[in-house]
Amino acid sequence: MNTLDWRYEMANAVIDPAELLQLLKLPLSLLPAAQAAAKHFGLRVPRQFIDLMVPGDLSDPLLRQILPINEELLDIPGFSDDPVGDQIAIKTPGMLIKYPGRALIIASPACAIHCRYCLRRNFPYKDQNLSQQHWQLILENLRQNSEIHEVILSGGDPLTLNDEQLNKLVIELAAIPHLQRLRIHTRLPILIPSRITQQLLDLLHNTRLIIVIVVHVNHPRELAESTQQALKNLCNVVTLLNQSVLLHRVNDNSEVLIELSASLFETRVLPYYIHLLDRVRGTAHFEVTPSIAKSLIDSMRQRLPGYLVPRLVQEEPGAAAKTLIA
Ligand SMILES: *Cc1c(COP(=O)(O)O)cnc(C)c1O
Ligand code: SF4
Repeated sequence: MNTLDWRYEMANAVIDPAELLQLLKLPLSLLPAAQAAAKHFGLRVPRQFIDLMVPGDLSDPLLRQILPINEELLDIPGFSDDPVGDQIAIKTPGMLIKYPGRALIIASPACAIHCRYCLRRNFPYKDQNLSQQHWQLILENLRQNSEIHEVILSGGDPLTLNDEQLNKLVIELAAIPHLQRLRIHTRLPILIPSRITQQLLDLLHNTRLIIVIVVHVNHPRELAESTQQALKNLCNVVTLLNQSVLLHRVNDNSEVLIELSASLFETRVLPYYIHLLDRVRGTAHFEVTPSIAKSLIDSMRQRLPGYLVPRLVQEEPGAAAKTLIA
């Protein structure tokens, strides 16, 4: 286990673009654009993640995921604030139901990192905070809806909640008889592996609910040794899956994707989804066309066992499931 407390590492993240440029020995001429773009969606990156980047390399695929740049400010037709219809899917504040059998809860608005391509970069979190009152309404809603068998904790990142808060959520959810599975969508084990505390492992192990953790890794270089150890500890108690977003000049390369699947499986993480970019305002420079995406998946399929090839999907507003592209 890491010696640093995860809460300290969260609080100690780099949020000042000038500091980021200095730490990575990048030209100060990038600062005005970084500051302008960060006004819309702040910079946030844990120091451990910065340590994985190559100083001076502007094309570093890890840097590209977090550095605010000029292109984010361009208004590109087809890119909007809610491209996937999240707002209509809100059933009660903090809970979205789009697909049969599953309810998604915005368990926390906070993240350890701000990914520039994030679907929720423009999401009105302040209306969706999981206050005690909202949580009681959500529980009431879930108790009455016996068709829901799986609850998905999302956000933001649900593992920004502390172990006491999570324990309370899990106990209250486990008391609803028709719930079978609890899924947690999180990037924290990748960024701040000390988040995987013994207390967290115990609470995931002790519930009657079947736990699935879906992590989010886009590039094999994100898998530091401490992260791999955290994933090994997790895989003893939960089912581990990964989802990625296909991102131009980050991972739109079959060698990178093949290495990502192989590295993830070293700690028993199976690839689940690779998403085509949601067309959120400010993210157009990350887009990969569906035809290039398909050919990347084809080359993965030629080289890897089927279970190491993620499903290429796209989210379409109003659809009853994510749309399978390849
Ligand atoms: C993606 C998503 C889910 C989960 O879909 P799966 O295909 O089961 O992974 C559930 N609810 C919402 C609102 C979603 O966006
Ligand atoms: S961790 Fe997930 S929710 Fe948070 S900014 Fe990154 S993509 Fe968005």
